[in-house]
Amino acid sequence: MEITCPHCGHAESDGFELIEVNELHDDFVCANCRQGFAACIKYCIHCDFEQALTWRVDAVPACVEALPCAQCDHIEAQSDALDDL
Ligand SMILES: [Zn+2]
Ligand SMILES: [Zn+2]
Repeated sequence: MEITCPHCGHAESDGFELIEVNELHDDFVCANCRQGFAACIKYCIHCDFEQALTWRVDAVPACVEALPCAQCDHIEAQSDALDDL
């Protein structure tokens, strides 16, 4: 799993297996350009697809659960996972 810096395109692969999937983490700092950014490892329960998303800190989506899966367009927030709140 690689995370690509949204500022300079630098790809980082260290330690991202450790972050929680489907959680927004907004405290990343690019090792190349030193700018902060936000990232989310989005895992789709529908098609078993995992993708790394990144945003500039001023362009972070309000709700990562509302983003569709890049592979099957499944939207987490529409599943019955919401019942677990
Ligand atoms: Zn960068
Ligand atoms: Zn999917």
